[in-house]
Amino acid sequence: MSASLPSWPPTLTSLQREELHKSATTWALSHGLCYLPPSTSDRPSNSTSSPPVATIHAPISLIPTPFPRSLFHSAQSLQSVYNTLYSRVALDTEFLDRYMGCESEEGVGKVDSFTGKLWQGWKTVREEGGYERQSLHLGLFRSDYLLHTSPDQALSIKQVEFNTISSSFGPLSERIAALHRHLAASCSYYDISPLLNDDRFPENETTKGLVQGLASAHGAYGVPSARILFVVQSKERNMFDQKWLEYELLERHSIKVIRRSLDELATQACVDPNTYSLLVSNTDSPNSPPIEISTIYFRACYTPNDFPTLSHYETRFLLERSRAIKCPSLPLQLAGGKKIQEVLTRPGVLEQFLPDVGHDSLEQLRATFMGMYSLDLDETNDSSSFPKTRANHLNLVLKPQREGGGNNVYKEDIPAFLDSLSAVSSSSSPVSESKAWIAMEIIHTPPGIGGYLVRSPPPGSSQEEIEAGKGGAQAEIISELGIFGYSLFGLVEGKKTIKGEETVGWLVRTKGKESNEGGVATGFSVLDSLVLI
Ligand code: ADP
Ligand code: MG
Ligand code: MG
Repeated sequence: MSASLPSWPPTLTSLQREELHKSATTWALSHGLCYLPPSTSDRPSNSTSSPPVATIHAPISLIPTPFPRSLFHSAQSLQSVYNTLYSRVALDTEFLDRYMGCESEEGVGKVDSFTGKLWQGWKTVREEGGYERQSLHLGLFRSDYLLHTSPDQALSIKQVEFNTISSSFGPLSERIAALHRHLAASCSYYDISPLLNDDRFPENETTKGLVQGLASAHGAYGVPSARILFVVQSKERNMFDQKWLEYELLERHSIKVIRRSLDELATQACVDPNTYSLLVSNTDSPNSPPIEISTIYFRACYTPNDFPTLSHYETRFLLERSRAIKCPSLPLQLAGGKKIQEVLTRPGVLEQFLPDVGHDSLEQLRATFMGMYSLDLDETNDSSSFPKTRANHLNLVLKPQREGGGNNVYKEDIPAFLDSLSAVSSSSSPVSESKAWIAMEIIHTPPGIGGYLVRSPPPGSSQEEIEAGKGGAQAEIISELGIFGYSLFGLVEGKKTIKGEETVGWLVRTKGKESNEGGVATGFSVLDSLVLI
């Protein structure tokens, strides 16, 4: 599409910025748009075992960011096809073995030890008949997009990645959308722009939608008194984003949640040898029987850092063995690999998974793909010199099989990285590490869009530093749109079946243009919402 974006942000006086800053952070703290503060010497840990005593507001944008209405709707309408696509990929054992396994020529698991361990665990569980005990899988997905300007200036949405594990910020994105509505209602944004009008702010009910997904899995498990287990990182600072899901499960569906880290589960979880039910000790009342789990929702286990020892993997596989429904199961987690995203761009692969999806929808989906290739395909046998990647490095980002931000290699950093890869592969392993990486073309976001970004000052900041941060930082920005969806699927009577899938909400994360990475939790981005243009 060719609609142009307005020049942004509209000008605010410094007094107006300071007032907005104060109203926004006060509202955020009043409404749970919050994080746990970083650890400090007088508060050394945010462990799940100690009661929280303070919050800080999440990083936020003071005004929403313009986005073409038709492209927002396209992203939403594609989600159902994406939900179906990734559900089917997760059920295709042969496909996942080929690209993510340790035994095939192309398998990433061969060179990436984290992927390899997850794949081995999956293989063991499936050979034991684990997926006959529980054939359903739950995905809470988030498909992420950036606006892309093509050389003829046309705007389109391009997919950054598709997340199948720990897709976060649903509830906080709902809250920042509500915050921007509040600011529009309370001060009309000082009438700085006719676009900052809440009839241009899309509805956001992401919490309800994600919880609908979790509740549908709980219902399918069929034991109303069972609980949902949230597997969490012990030092999670983005805890409130998770707590809002818990509150909604209880209030809307009367489903109780327990939260445990992998460390806690190592001693508290077991699988009943007869029924394969997952049972977790009731630490609140040690004399009560253990708690049966209907659904395991992973907000951890997406990074090797969550597995400091081999026994952490054993605990993860114990959970997989049970007949609880996993969100995600190991194959669904593997389906979210960047390698799979790349393979899906190859000719004929989408058709293989979506033979029943019309040509137009398939082409719309394909139009969201940037060019991608597996880095090892650019290795020459003699010198491992990656000629194509070197020649195009300023238009590429290299991605390993990792989640959570901070793992990619961008543009000018690529040549040195390729040198280091060549050195490793020629010296040690006969199988090149480059197999674990994909190269992706850079998405060219439209210039000229800025925002006002506000972060909570670090603990121990001086009054002077706090004063200096008033009104937020004005910066040129890149905004990444995430569309949430869920899918409950599996083999039902031997047939690959999607029992239910929905498009359930959206998220915007905004970062300063100078930053390559996009994670809110990793400190690069702020939460944001949209003005539809
Ligand atoms: P992760 O799973 O770690 O979040 P992503 O694929 O989302 O990995 O990459 C992290 C960030 O890098 C994104 O949020 C985005 O800001 C940036 N990024 C990723 N791919 C591209 C791309 N093709 N063009 C421009 N920026 C990108
Ligand atoms: Mg990402
Ligand atoms: Mg990701």
